[in-house]
Amino acid sequence: MENTQAFDVIVIGGGPAGATTAAILAQHGRSVLVLEKDYFPRYHVGESLMPYCWFVLDRLGVIDQLNESAFPKKYSVQFVSMQGRVSQPFYFFEHWDHPAAVTWQVVRSDFDKMLLDRAAELGAEVRYGARAKEFCRDDNGKVIGVRVENDLGESYYVSASVTVDATGRDALAASRNQWRIKDPELGKIAIWTYYKGAERDPGLDEAATTIAYLPDKGWFWYIPLPDDVVGVGIVAEKDYLFSGTRDKAEILAREAANNPWIQQRISKGTQFGPIWATGDFSYRSKYCADDGLVLVGDAFAFLDPVFSSGVYLALKSGELAADTIHAALTAGDTSAAQFTKYGEQLCASIETMRALVYAFYQKDFSMKDVVTKFPEVKGDLVDCLIGDLVRDFSNLCNAVGHFAELPEHLTHGLPREPVGAEVAAV
Ligand SMILES: Cc1cc2nc3c(=O)[nH]c(=O)nc-3n(C[C@H](O)[C@H](O)[C@H](O)COP(=O)(O)OP(=O)(O)OC[C@H]3O[C@@H](n4cnc5c(N)ncnc54)[C@H](O)[C@@H]3O)c2cc1C
Repeated sequence: MENTQAFDVIVIGGGPAGATTAAILAQHGRSVLVLEKDYFPRYHVGESLMPYCWFVLDRLGVIDQLNESAFPKKYSVQFVSMQGRVSQPFYFFEHWDHPAAVTWQVVRSDFDKMLLDRAAELGAEVRYGARAKEFCRDDNGKVIGVRVENDLGESYYVSASVTVDATGRDALAASRNQWRIKDPELGKIAIWTYYKGAERDPGLDEAATTIAYLPDKGWFWYIPLPDDVVGVGIVAEKDYLFSGTRDKAEILAREAANNPWIQQRISKGTQFGPIWATGDFSYRSKYCADDGLVLVGDAFAFLDPVFSSGVYLALKSGELAADTIHAALTAGDTSAAQFTKYGEQLCASIETMRALVYAFYQKDFSMKDVVTKFPEVKGDLVDCLIGDLVRDFSNLCNAVGHFAELPEHLTHGLPREPVGAEVAAV
């Protein structure tokens, strides 16, 4: 790695997690290089934001841009039964008097570009068409840089005190090191596409996220976007979805017929573009950090998207990681141990959401039953669903545990301990 260009931090991946990490480190005055294999704007799924995204977006200085954008304002979430009965919308502003109570349904190509452009504006160097191929380590195993390949297939090396893996579901570090551990009970798959001209509600409800139920606790999402476009997708067990056919269009049509609300809405529109699918849903990396390396966003963990928590966790993990890296660089110690609190906070936040996701998929579970029996946890439930996740939710989880079997907390996801530490501890 001689004669390489050196930075304080290299961020691999320019999605919401990488852009946030890079932007905040640049705000701290650090030299940052972002390596992005694609060219922006590029397509990405995951359009529905949680209200608490506002705080990180405010720190990045993009709230005015978002307010001026064409992204529809999301005031609420609503649920639709299999018979097509619509719940009373859950309006965030009824529970919370704050500008963050109104969030957005974003077109990810534009949203992600906005964030990465902001990181560049703040001083991060962004290289597109730059694919990280491997981590470079010193003799002690510390990550000290990355081998990069450009579009012409040419390789070069860059070095940094800290490398951040923000590669999304590609999860470069977790894949290369066999750190990716699937969540045992959340093996769902998703199939999704877009419609033009599908029916939308008027007024405040126009851009509500709708979750419409299917048999066996599968569900449809219905997400209104700009230009009269609606994103429509299904999440369910693979065996259920693929029973009878593997044709994605046939599956979407079959399942739409299972929910009259969805059927009626999409019948007024025209499907366009590809029909997408993804499997291997929920996972968490064995480690959130190694010496000189930190994992953020989906590169660290992915949770079933039923509560739209992905972009929030990407932004928040980027923010937490950036502040922790800045402190580690200041202290002159970028070993894995510096990221223990980062890992604990992130894992605890994910565990709260994970408990609600597990409960959601259990037969006959209803949040209404929980708050009827334990009205004192209603506030916690609201906080959790709007994304105020970085705090203690044990009362809520205990209450939910009366109605659903909750998973044991996963014990992995903290920084990697120094080689020999387990032996030394014995
Ligand atoms: C079906 C589905 C529906 C979802 N719905 C929602 C939703 O409604 N709301 C929500 O909040 N979340 C949703 N999510 C989750 C959300 O999409 C993700 O959590 C979010 O995009 C994570 O951001 P990220 O920055 O970690 O990763 P990404 O957004 O995936 O960004 C990773 C970036 O890294 C780049 N990259 C990858 N490998 C390399 C490499 N080797 N070198 C250089 N660059 C690389 C990629 O090109 C990409 O730009 C959904 C996810 C799925 C699968």
